[in-house]
Amino acid sequence: MALNETHRVEVTSWVESAQTPGSDFPIQNLPFGVFRRTGRHEPPRVGVAIGDQIVDVAACVDEGLLSGVSLEAGERCRLPQLNDLMALGPEPTSALRRALGDLLRVDSAAYHDHPGIARRVLVPMYEAELRLPAVIGDYTDFYASIDHARNIGGMFRPNDPLLPNYKYVPIGYHGRASSIVPSDTHVRRPRGQIHDDPDEPPFTAPTKRLDYELELGIFIGTGNALGSPVPIIDADRHIFGCCLLNDWSARDIQSWEYQPLGPFLAKSFATTISPWIVTLDALEPFRAPAYVRPDGDPAPLPYLLWDVDQRRGGFDIRLDVYLRTAVMRQRRQDPIRISRGRFTSMYWTIAQLVTHHTSNGCNLRPGDLLGSGTISGPDPDSRGSLIERTSRGREPIRLPNGESRSFLEDGDEVIMRAFCERPGFARIGFGECSGMIVPAL
Ligand code: CA
Repeated sequence: MALNETHRVEVTSWVESAQTPGSDFPIQNLPFGVFRRTGRHEPPRVGVAIGDQIVDVAACVDEGLLSGVSLEAGERCRLPQLNDLMALGPEPTSALRRALGDLLRVDSAAYHDHPGIARRVLVPMYEAELRLPAVIGDYTDFYASIDHARNIGGMFRPNDPLLPNYKYVPIGYHGRASSIVPSDTHVRRPRGQIHDDPDEPPFTAPTKRLDYELELGIFIGTGNALGSPVPIIDADRHIFGCCLLNDWSARDIQSWEYQPLGPFLAKSFATTISPWIVTLDALEPFRAPAYVRPDGDPAPLPYLLWDVDQRRGGFDIRLDVYLRTAVMRQRRQDPIRISRGRFTSMYWTIAQLVTHHTSNGCNLRPGDLLGSGTISGPDPDSRGSLIERTSRGREPIRLPNGESRSFLEDGDEVIMRAFCERPGFARIGFGECSGMIVPAL
């Protein structure tokens, strides 16, 4: 895909809130999600965010506002999940995004020819409940930040933080799809086996080391047939778009159970995602070179190496983590930012993750979700989890109100936000991925 009319910074919308400075959802974004009007007995359906409004795509179909390929795509938006639209592949979704952009722009002929259209196709976000955007059949979590891998590895193996496979294999594990929840869902502190005294047997208790992991979620669009790997030159065509993902982690449970088969109950109790999927089309202006490997690092093996992906397979996305404690909420204090990461620090591109995942013939299906792995950079401020920010809890974060945190406490709310900015283009954002910890049962 190339830059086109949908990316032009000077285009504005008749939805005035789309022009609010700092809005995540200007007309240049148009992310997809699934919503349900609150207080009505209507099933959820697909919507597109603009400003503080949701475009009801099926209503646009009913109003006769779509035609051709965009109509075919729009017909798939009557459903309570995006899987059917995702399965169509990139062109119909691009056509639909473009048609909705034409409809929403300030000089839209359809808008001026159809009085009352705004009332019939828009739903205010405050009147809607946002759902999981897709039925997620499978979820895989990667480990694509070399700084994160080094930070975590250094805690367990100070002299040998990075395992020898890291620079060859995009490391991942199969996660749990059933416990993925949309933003604003409360997260219950899990109980599990904890073994904190090597001379004593393990016991069960609520985790004392509850953590978050800042990640990008990557939704698969078109799948691949079992036995048919996706070559790197086609990988982007299988990606529908991206959201924010919080891979909640219980570090004490994790450290006891993870050997020899990897994360299990320390992570499967909840994973939170932001409800809006920002398409690769919308992210096009913010493409960046892949991570530049320092001298001495091996080149990716041939199946993961494509010059175009090396040149523009990265994305310049800034990602922030905010924390609001119960005390801050009581005092009506705003959440405070505790880290800021950048997606350009990732060692592997999202195309490489897709290609590696399918390289053994494993089939991905529409709506499958990949997690990038914790997004950490080289600076202390850019570490995307508390275990890294606090050096395993030894150096707590001091909050401005006098509280401190090594790990999350009940009532803590973790809020992730992300945005892209580049001179000459409209700023676009991802909305929020938030969750509050509630006490263990
Ligand atoms: Ca993770």
